[in-house]
Amino acid sequence: MYKIAVAGTGYVGLVAGVCFAEVGHNVICVDIDEKKVELMKSGKSPIYEADLESLMRKNYEAGRLDYTTDFRAAYKDADAIFIGVGTPELPDGSANLSYIASVARQIAESIEKDCLVVVKSTVPVGTNDKVEQFINDFLVHNVKVEVASNPEFLAQGSAVHDTLKASRIIIGVESKWAENILKCIYEPFHLPIVTVNRRSAEMIKYASNDFLALKISYMNEIANLCELVGADVKDVAKGMSYDSRIGDKFLNAGIGYGGSCFPKDTKALEYLARQNGYEIKTVKAAIDVNKEQKLAMYKKASRRLITFHGLKVAVLGLTFKPGTDDLREAPSLDNIPLLLENGADIYAYDPVGADNFKKIYPEGKIKRGTITYVESVEDALIDANLCFIFTEWDEIKGLNPIDYKKHMKTPLVFDGRNIYEVQQMLDAGIEYYAIGRKQAL
Ligand code: NAD
Repeated sequence: MYKIAVAGTGYVGLVAGVCFAEVGHNVICVDIDEKKVELMKSGKSPIYEADLESLMRKNYEAGRLDYTTDFRAAYKDADAIFIGVGTPELPDGSANLSYIASVARQIAESIEKDCLVVVKSTVPVGTNDKVEQFINDFLVHNVKVEVASNPEFLAQGSAVHDTLKASRIIIGVESKWAENILKCIYEPFHLPIVTVNRRSAEMIKYASNDFLALKISYMNEIANLCELVGADVKDVAKGMSYDSRIGDKFLNAGIGYGGSCFPKDTKALEYLARQNGYEIKTVKAAIDVNKEQKLAMYKKASRRLITFHGLKVAVLGLTFKPGTDDLREAPSLDNIPLLLENGADIYAYDPVGADNFKKIYPEGKIKRGTITYVESVEDALIDANLCFIFTEWDEIKGLNPIDYKKHMKTPLVFDGRNIYEVQQMLDAGIEYYAIGRKQAL
């Protein structure tokens, strides 16, 4: 078993560290955030992911997993150091590599034995060549260090499952030495391993994510057209899904993709193409479509109503998808400020995302409106004049059409996630608008 250090304890780093410990490796997770480290040492996860906390506790108690801010102690004798720090978007669309650079510098100054550095963070093609050069330029001790690319494909909301049962492990290496270490580290997972060179591995990550973003934007455009011509996108998607070349995943139309990955990874690939004198038209289109799609429900409601001022607006779901507390690029963040500017009194419900949302929009008066956070779907709906559904949490999907009718003052529902059958809602006496369904606005 290997001694592994993981830099960064976010969705990628922490889950990777915990899963490496779960299969028997000796893992130390490093973060610069002292509060996070203290929290993790007390057995609590700083992020919400199913099964994560129980595996953290189990492996911590077994002595295979620990957390620290002391990067020198963690890195100095590690066999492999996995980097899982953020690579957020810069204003020009390129990836911010400053976190990667500071970890690289810390590694160069700390390692005292031969070590494989493995970049899990999503980085533009060619970055790992530079990381390797950078570490070697700043090395303090006379040791061998090489960089490998091992992009991560987990989806938030099912991160632990996606790591332990990953569809494939991509290993991007430039030597047999690096390949052997990574194959041994992943051997206990019993998963398919695809070995390629470093640049191909980096590209596989962008090509995969951007393909999924394209698929979503494509279905959203088909949905918009369905509305105009009287077709129903749910039926269209069902009919398409039987074709194995298309598949049955990612065909759901909605109010666009969010999260920390698709938005920034589409822009980063578009930037990379531009830097190389190439215009990647398909990805550009996915970005443009998504930007507009996020406001699709708000625009429908604006066409339906004279004003939002003084209306009680129930908002169901704040996170960018169910199963996570992450709000990054969530459609709620595009819609709620507009509703507040226009004087709406918002009653927001999210089973796990409300605390994070409160940090951005504290409860009370904001602009011309107000926002109140409630503990149940029913509390949001009581006496509401209209309702927006932004996230398809089970608690929200489990609501019966009749509940809207029962609780709301006027049962007017704008469903950005196509949760309900149109007829079912109409039969319950609800004025219902969704995405790409027959009753367009
Ligand atoms: P995150 O923002 O949740 O976590 C990053 C962590 O790194 C933070 O805890 C931060 O404090 C820590 N950090 C920053 N500098 C550090 C340093 N010098 N040493 C140690 N820790 C440091 O990020 P994330 O969502 O886990 O994403 C990480 C990378 O993985 C990104 O490149 C992202 O694109 C990629 N990725 C993310 C997902 C996802 O679903 N979130 C999926 C696949 C790939």
